[in-house]
Amino acid sequence: MADYDIDDPEREIECPYDKAHMVRKKRMQYHLIKCRRNHVTKDFVTCPFNATHEMPRPELRHHMLTCRDRAVAEKTIRHGESLYYNY
Ligand SMILES: [Zn+2]
Ligand SMILES: [Zn+2]
Repeated sequence: MADYDIDDPEREIECPYDKAHMVRKKRMQYHLIKCRRNHVTKDFVTCPFNATHEMPRPELRHHMLTCRDRAVAEKTIRHGESLYYNY
């Protein structure tokens, strides 16, 4: 669960639903849609910053503190605010 800092879309990462699934990062979003149907009983949630980050609900709080996509989202918001205040 700690490899989100590697952006190579060809890199294989573990499916959060089943560690036996190794999925290329660029395919993960499609895989999750299919795989989720097989694990509907699990209480999984999606990261609000990146739809390919899925995890058991208890892990979300920690993930949101460390998610690198959160930093990107917050930078965008701050940039927008500073633009706004310049006017
Ligand atoms: Zn899977
Ligand atoms: Zn995330």
